Amino acid sequence: MRCLVANWKMNLLSASAGAFCDALLADPSLAGSSGCQLGIAPPFTLLKQVSEAVRGRRISVFGQNARAEAEGAYTGDISMAMLKDAGCAGVILGHSERRRLGGETDALLAAKLQAAWDAELLPLLCIGETLEEREAEQTFPVLQRQLSILGPKPGPLWIAYEPVWAIGTGRRAEAKQIQEAHAYIRAELMTRMDEAAWRVPILYGGSVAPDNFAELLQIPEVAGGLVGGASLDPAKFMAMAKTAAKTEE
Ligand code: PEP
Repeated sequence: MRCLVANWKMNLLSASAGAFCDALLADPSLAGSSGCQLGIAPPFTLLKQVSEAVRGRRISVFGQNARAEAEGAYTGDISMAMLKDAGCAGVILGHSERRRLGGETDALLAAKLQAAWDAELLPLLCIGETLEEREAEQTFPVLQRQLSILGPKPGPLWIAYEPVWAIGTGRRAEAKQIQEAHAYIRAELMTRMDEAAWRVPILYGGSVAPDNFAELLQIPEVAGGLVGGASLDPAKFMAMAKTAAKTEE
Protein backbone atom coordinates (compact mmCIF):
# COMPACT_ATOMS: atom_id res chain seq x y z
CA MET A 1 0.00 0.00 0.00
CA ARG A 2 1.23 3.48 -0.90
CA CYS A 3 0.57 6.32 1.55
CA LEU A 4 0.82 10.07 1.18
CA VAL A 5 0.07 12.38 4.09
CA ALA A 6 -0.12 16.17 3.94
CA ASN A 7 1.06 17.89 7.12
CA TRP A 8 -0.32 21.41 6.85
CA LYS A 9 1.28 22.44 10.16
CA MET A 10 0.04 25.94 11.18
CA ASN A 11 -1.06 26.93 7.69
CA LEU A 12 -4.31 27.64 5.80
CA LEU A 13 -7.62 29.17 6.81
CA SER A 14 -11.12 27.93 6.04
CA ALA A 15 -11.24 29.57 2.59
CA SER A 16 -7.88 28.19 1.44
CA ALA A 17 -8.59 24.77 2.97
CA GLY A 18 -11.95 24.70 1.17
CA ALA A 19 -10.27 25.58 -2.11
CA PHE A 20 -7.71 22.82 -1.52
CA CYS A 21 -10.42 20.21 -0.91
CA ASP A 22 -12.44 21.40 -3.91
CA ALA A 23 -9.39 21.05 -6.16
CA LEU A 24 -8.59 17.63 -4.76
CA LEU A 25 -12.11 16.29 -5.10
CA ALA A 26 -12.49 17.66 -8.62
CA ASP A 27 -9.48 15.69 -9.81
CA PRO A 28 -10.82 12.73 -11.82
CA SER A 29 -7.92 10.50 -10.79
CA LEU A 30 -9.25 10.55 -7.24
CA ALA A 31 -12.44 8.80 -8.29
CA GLY A 32 -12.48 5.01 -8.21
CA SER A 33 -9.84 3.01 -6.43
CA SER A 34 -6.74 5.09 -6.28
CA GLY A 35 -3.76 2.97 -5.40
CA CYS A 36 -2.71 5.36 -2.70
CA GLN A 37 -4.05 5.96 0.78
CA LEU A 38 -4.17 9.73 1.18
CA GLY A 39 -4.11 11.63 4.45
CA ILE A 40 -4.46 15.27 5.39
CA ALA A 41 -3.39 16.67 8.76
CA PRO A 42 -4.96 20.13 9.03
CA PRO A 43 -4.67 22.42 12.04
CA PHE A 44 -7.32 21.84 14.73
CA THR A 45 -9.60 24.62 13.51
CA LEU A 46 -9.99 22.96 10.10
CA LEU A 47 -10.41 19.33 11.17
CA LYS A 48 -14.17 19.22 10.97
CA GLN A 49 -14.36 21.16 7.74
CA VAL A 50 -11.83 18.93 6.00
CA SER A 51 -13.33 15.72 7.44
CA GLU A 52 -16.73 16.68 6.11
CA ALA A 53 -15.35 17.69 2.73
CA VAL A 54 -13.54 14.39 2.14
CA ARG A 55 -16.10 12.05 3.73
CA GLY A 56 -16.64 8.93 1.63
CA ARG A 57 -13.40 9.39 -0.30
CA ARG A 58 -10.20 7.46 0.19
CA ILE A 59 -8.71 10.28 2.26
CA SER A 60 -8.10 10.06 6.00
CA VAL A 61 -7.86 13.05 8.27
CA PHE A 62 -5.12 13.15 10.89
CA GLY A 63 -4.69 15.41 13.90
CA GLN A 64 -1.25 16.97 14.26
CA ASN A 65 -1.14 16.38 18.01
CA ALA A 66 -3.30 15.74 21.07
CA ARG A 67 -2.82 15.24 24.80
CA ALA A 68 -2.49 11.84 26.40
CA GLU A 69 -5.04 12.63 29.13
CA ALA A 70 -8.65 11.82 28.32
CA GLU A 71 -10.07 15.10 29.71
CA GLY A 72 -9.50 17.73 32.34
CA ALA A 73 -8.04 21.13 33.12
CA TYR A 74 -5.63 21.51 30.19
CA THR A 75 -6.41 24.93 28.79
CA GLY A 76 -5.61 25.21 25.12
CA ASP A 77 -5.17 21.49 24.50
CA ILE A 78 -7.38 18.81 23.03
CA SER A 79 -7.78 15.07 23.59
CA MET A 80 -7.58 12.08 21.28
CA ALA A 81 -11.35 11.58 21.64
CA MET A 82 -11.86 15.17 20.44
CA LEU A 83 -9.82 14.43 17.33
CA LYS A 84 -11.94 11.36 16.71
CA ASP A 85 -15.10 13.36 17.29
CA ALA A 86 -13.94 15.91 14.70
CA GLY A 87 -13.62 13.16 12.11
CA CYS A 88 -9.98 12.08 12.43
CA ALA A 89 -8.87 8.55 11.65
CA GLY A 90 -5.35 9.12 12.95
CA VAL A 91 -2.93 11.41 14.69
CA ILE A 92 0.64 12.48 13.98
CA LEU A 93 2.79 11.90 17.05
CA GLY A 94 6.38 12.82 17.76
CA HIS A 95 6.91 15.27 14.92
CA SER A 96 10.35 16.81 15.41
CA GLU A 97 8.80 20.28 15.70
CA ARG A 98 6.80 19.09 18.70
CA ARG A 99 9.79 17.30 20.18
CA ARG A 100 11.93 20.42 19.75
CA LEU A 101 9.46 23.29 20.27
CA GLY A 102 7.01 21.51 22.55
CA GLY A 103 9.59 19.64 24.63
CA GLU A 104 7.94 16.30 23.92
CA THR A 105 9.92 13.41 25.37
CA ASP A 106 9.80 9.72 24.54
CA ALA A 107 8.05 9.08 27.87
CA LEU A 108 5.33 11.58 27.00
CA LEU A 109 5.02 10.12 23.51
CA ALA A 110 4.61 6.61 24.95
CA ALA A 111 1.58 7.88 26.87
CA LYS A 112 0.20 9.65 23.78
CA LEU A 113 0.66 6.51 21.70
CA GLN A 114 -1.37 4.46 24.16
CA ALA A 115 -4.01 7.20 24.32
CA ALA A 116 -4.29 7.15 20.52
CA TRP A 117 -4.78 3.39 20.50
CA ASP A 118 -7.33 3.68 23.32
CA ALA A 119 -9.26 6.22 21.24
CA GLU A 120 -9.00 3.97 18.17
CA LEU A 121 -6.92 6.48 16.28
CA LEU A 122 -4.11 5.38 13.99
CA PRO A 123 -0.85 6.90 15.23
CA LEU A 124 1.60 8.15 12.61
CA LEU A 125 4.76 8.14 14.68
CA CYS A 126 7.55 10.41 13.45
CA ILE A 127 11.13 9.50 14.27
CA GLY A 128 14.46 10.74 13.01
CA GLU A 129 17.88 12.05 13.96
CA THR A 130 19.25 15.58 14.04
CA LEU A 131 22.26 16.52 11.95
CA GLU A 132 24.50 16.44 15.03
CA GLU A 133 23.29 12.95 15.86
CA ARG A 134 23.94 11.76 12.30
CA GLU A 135 27.39 13.27 12.27
CA ALA A 136 28.14 11.58 15.60
CA GLU A 137 27.03 8.26 14.04
CA GLN A 138 24.12 8.08 16.44
CA THR A 139 21.35 7.65 13.88
CA PHE A 140 20.52 4.03 14.70
CA PRO A 141 20.70 4.42 18.51
CA VAL A 142 18.39 7.44 18.21
CA LEU A 143 15.91 5.51 16.08
CA GLN A 144 16.08 2.60 18.49
CA ARG A 145 15.37 4.89 21.45
CA GLN A 146 12.48 6.58 19.69
CA LEU A 147 11.02 3.19 18.71
CA SER A 148 11.41 1.78 22.22
CA ILE A 149 8.14 3.52 23.17
CA LEU A 150 6.29 0.95 21.06
CA GLY A 151 6.73 -1.64 23.77
CA PRO A 152 6.68 -5.39 23.15
CA LYS A 153 3.28 -5.62 21.43
CA PRO A 154 2.38 -2.41 19.60
CA GLY A 155 -1.05 -1.74 18.14
CA PRO A 156 -1.63 -0.65 14.55
CA LEU A 157 0.52 2.25 13.43
CA TRP A 158 2.28 4.01 10.60
CA ILE A 159 5.81 5.31 10.94
CA ALA A 160 7.45 8.28 9.27
CA TYR A 161 11.22 8.41 9.13
CA GLU A 162 11.99 12.12 9.09
CA PRO A 163 15.64 13.12 9.44
CA VAL A 164 15.31 16.47 11.22
CA TRP A 165 17.92 18.09 9.00
CA ALA A 166 15.85 17.32 5.91
CA ILE A 167 12.59 18.88 7.15
CA GLY A 168 11.76 22.15 5.43
CA THR A 169 15.33 22.59 4.23
CA GLY A 170 15.02 21.52 0.60
CA ARG A 171 17.73 18.96 1.35
CA ARG A 172 16.16 15.51 0.96
CA ALA A 173 18.15 12.65 2.48
CA GLU A 174 20.09 10.49 0.03
CA ALA A 175 18.61 7.21 -1.17
CA LYS A 176 21.22 5.16 0.69
CA GLN A 177 20.58 6.99 3.97
CA ILE A 178 16.84 6.48 3.61
CA GLN A 179 17.19 2.82 2.68
CA GLU A 180 19.45 2.09 5.65
CA ALA A 181 17.17 3.87 8.10
CA HIS A 182 14.01 2.19 6.78
CA ALA A 183 15.65 -1.24 6.86
CA TYR A 184 16.73 -0.59 10.44
CA ILE A 185 13.20 0.48 11.42
CA ARG A 186 11.70 -2.62 9.75
CA ALA A 187 14.12 -4.88 11.61
CA GLU A 188 13.24 -3.17 14.91
CA LEU A 189 9.54 -3.67 14.18
CA MET A 190 10.16 -7.35 13.41
CA THR A 191 11.55 -7.88 16.89
CA ARG A 192 8.24 -6.67 18.35
CA MET A 193 5.56 -7.68 15.89
CA ASP A 194 6.88 -10.63 13.86
CA GLU A 195 5.01 -10.89 10.56
CA ALA A 196 2.65 -8.03 11.43
CA ALA A 197 5.65 -5.72 11.10
CA TRP A 198 5.34 -6.03 7.34
CA ARG A 199 1.95 -4.36 7.51
CA VAL A 200 3.35 -1.17 9.05
CA PRO A 201 3.92 1.37 6.26
CA ILE A 202 7.16 3.31 6.73
CA LEU A 203 6.91 6.74 5.12
CA TYR A 204 9.77 9.10 4.46
CA GLY A 205 9.48 12.80 5.29
CA GLY A 206 11.85 15.69 4.67
CA SER A 207 11.72 17.98 1.63
CA VAL A 208 9.56 15.61 -0.41
CA ALA A 209 8.29 17.29 -3.59
CA PRO A 210 6.75 16.21 -6.91
CA ASP A 211 10.15 16.22 -8.61
CA ASN A 212 11.78 13.79 -6.18
CA PHE A 213 8.84 11.62 -5.15
CA ALA A 214 9.06 9.01 -7.93
CA GLU A 215 12.73 8.39 -7.13
CA LEU A 216 11.90 8.17 -3.44
CA LEU A 217 9.30 5.48 -4.05
CA GLN A 218 11.91 3.31 -5.79
CA ILE A 219 13.82 2.96 -2.52
CA PRO A 220 13.13 -0.39 -0.85
CA GLU A 221 10.89 -0.13 2.24
CA VAL A 222 9.59 3.35 1.38
CA ALA A 223 5.80 3.12 1.39
CA GLY A 224 5.17 6.79 0.75
CA GLY A 225 5.69 10.28 2.09
CA LEU A 226 4.80 12.65 4.89
CA VAL A 227 4.91 16.03 3.21
CA GLY A 228 4.98 19.50 4.72
CA GLY A 229 5.67 22.47 2.44
CA ALA A 230 4.77 20.83 -0.87
CA SER A 231 1.45 19.56 0.52
CA LEU A 232 -0.04 23.05 0.74
CA ASP A 233 -0.49 23.24 -3.01
CA PRO A 234 -3.26 20.89 -4.21
CA ALA A 235 -1.64 20.55 -7.65
CA LYS A 236 1.62 19.37 -6.09
CA PHE A 237 -0.20 17.08 -3.68
CA MET A 238 -2.22 15.51 -6.48
CA ALA A 239 0.89 15.11 -8.64
CA MET A 240 2.50 13.15 -5.81
CA ALA A 241 -0.67 11.11 -5.26
CA LYS A 242 -0.69 10.13 -8.93
CA THR A 243 2.98 9.15 -8.80
CA ALA A 244 2.25 6.99 -5.78
CA ALA A 245 -0.77 5.34 -7.41
CA LYS A 246 1.30 4.49 -10.49
CA THR A 247 3.95 2.76 -8.43
CA GLU A 248 1.67 0.88 -6.07
CA GLU A 249 3.59 -1.76 -4.15
C1 PEP B 1 7.24 17.61 7.85
O1 PEP B 1 7.10 18.63 8.50
O2 PEP B 1 6.80 16.54 8.28
C2 PEP B 1 7.94 17.71 6.58
C3 PEP B 1 8.36 16.61 6.06
O3 PEP B 1 8.10 18.97 6.07
P1 PEP B 1 8.73 19.32 4.60
O4 PEP B 1 8.07 18.41 3.61
O5 PEP B 1 8.38 20.75 4.39
O6 PEP B 1 10.21 19.06 4.67
